[in-house]
Amino acid sequence: MSFAIDNEVKDRVRLAVNIVDLIGSYGEIRRQGRGFVAACPFHDDRRPSLQVNPDRQTWKCWVCDIGGDVFSFVMKKESVGFPEALRMLADRAGIVIESPKERGSRDDKKRLYEAMKWATQEFHECLLSAPEANAAREYLEGRGITDESIRKFQIGFAPESWSWLLDRGGSKSFSPDVLESIGLAARGDRGSRYDRFRNRAIFPIRDPSGRPIAVGGRVLPGASPDTAKYVNCNETRLYHKSHQLYGLDLARESIVKAKQVVVMEGYTDVIMAVQHGIGNAVACCGTALGEGQIKLLRRYCDSVVLLLDGDEAGQKRTREILELFVSEQMDLRILTLPDGLDPCDYLLKHSGTQLKSLLSTAVDALEHKIRILCQGFDPLIDTHRANSALEDILETMSRVTRDTLVTSESSRLRHDQLLARLSRQFGVEQSEIRMRIDSIRQKASERAKQRQEFRQMQAAPPLSLATAADKQNAAPVMPPATQNIVYKYSELNAIECELFEVMALFEDVVPMAIERFPVTTLSSTTAKKIFQVYLDLELAGHTLDFESVLSAVEDAGIKNVLVSIEEQASRKAVLAKMTPDERLHSLCERLSGQEDRAYRRQQINLLEKKQVDAETELDLLNQIVLQNRLKHGLVQTDNP
Ligand SMILES: [Zn+2]
Repeated sequence: MSFAIDNEVKDRVRLAVNIVDLIGSYGEIRRQGRGFVAACPFHDDRRPSLQVNPDRQTWKCWVCDIGGDVFSFVMKKESVGFPEALRMLADRAGIVIESPKERGSRDDKKRLYEAMKWATQEFHECLLSAPEANAAREYLEGRGITDESIRKFQIGFAPESWSWLLDRGGSKSFSPDVLESIGLAARGDRGSRYDRFRNRAIFPIRDPSGRPIAVGGRVLPGASPDTAKYVNCNETRLYHKSHQLYGLDLARESIVKAKQVVVMEGYTDVIMAVQHGIGNAVACCGTALGEGQIKLLRRYCDSVVLLLDGDEAGQKRTREILELFVSEQMDLRILTLPDGLDPCDYLLKHSGTQLKSLLSTAVDALEHKIRILCQGFDPLIDTHRANSALEDILETMSRVTRDTLVTSESSRLRHDQLLARLSRQFGVEQSEIRMRIDSIRQKASERAKQRQEFRQMQAAPPLSLATAADKQNAAPVMPPATQNIVYKYSELNAIECELFEVMALFEDVVPMAIERFPVTTLSSTTAKKIFQVYLDLELAGHTLDFESVLSAVEDAGIKNVLVSIEEQASRKAVLAKMTPDERLHSLCERLSGQEDRAYRRQQINLLEKKQVDAETELDLLNQIVLQNRLKHGLVQTDNP
């Protein structure tokens, strides 16, 4: 097996093995508080010191100061390397690790599509005619969903049984393995399979060409209160939730015709919208709208109305979404429905015509942002708050590339209007604002370049290894050099800790963190290694949640560091007053303050040492003055 075992295999094994069972199989484990404790097998443990976190699927011993996930537990306990630990855990869970070639074959994927198509049809027919689907039919009817919609969206029902689908699959030769790999079956403690969807209304998720690739299951009234409202398929070879939109297959034509798409939050919102004549509606499948989905929508139109539920959680995410839109040169409008209603309820209470006329009043998102940022103070008086609000707005505006402004008349016009407006509102010269945007743009492109170099540097084999291998061509494969490096949590500085803590807790802000954080400031091997893991996963389009990152890493030391980061993060999260977004923002601000100071110090040093000629000296002095002016906010220039 190669060292670079692909992440899909790791994910499958990770999801199939429960850490509580695993550690329990080595000795006694008992519940304590929200987690479990066991005697630590790595030191002479009198009281159980090994803490097990079932939510994160991690373990930690504070006495030994080590921790990790299922993989690193086995590595440590059995004194084996990662590949061996993976194999042992796969055996334990009854997972056969095929070579990537076998798995990648087209026939194999075709089979998965067939299985999904068959399963959604089974669910659908069950809803239409089975007596046990009565309650589900009543529920849908009660929600105002018509028979036509049930057929159009192929809504289904999964009966209350642990093996309804598995049993049927057997007779159609869709094996439990196949059903598991498309996310419809799950695996129990002893490796036995069971139906993941039970007693739920089933909403098939189809790709833009109409092929079913996953399903979402909604709980029915009367289920016990601790049942999750929605269950979705996990990520599979067919389904990457961040690249799919519910209802897009049916909405495509309407979107092209209307030159606009309306993005909602729930399946029933979309169904209800279509019933009320709003055909260009889609929904995110349990995620916030992200880059993959925006790129997908861009194929059909370049204007999006984001329909937010009245709650604040929806509002908070708009900053990042807005930046994505600006960089994709798409027009984003935002609409919040009155009385905290979701679209489905709104439509049941009012009408499609009313929603359409509300949609036409949706505010431009940048305008929306300016309004929100300038709420509650006078930008002409409170200069400190004004500066940070303006900085924030300019950060977003800087995403419009110069090329766009040159080539697109309408973008340029809109850009100029905004500049004029900001200039009036903040009492700052337009020229000054332009200069600031340019400097933000320049910094961003420098960071991107550095990130590129960082990637290449981390990916290149260490020099000593490369030359050794060159010398003797037939040399056996060298172990990765990283095996000799010891990664330590204590190597991380305060800023890196904060960065990785935010990234560990909030996968949504990870892409933004990657883009904003200047890689050149990463100080230690440990920090660089962790950042690289994130970069690699991002490049591969993998999900960036903490568990995925943890299992993508094969080095037990890094796993240990990650667990420490997550522990710290969870402890602090209770105290954190800022949103993840704000934490990231303030982190980068602190950092750029440091960067600027370091750069100035270096320039002043040069001047003091008189290592430059007169012309350069004047140049440097001018630069320092300019930086200071920018730094101290966008005060009016003292031109007459
Ligand atoms: Zn210990």
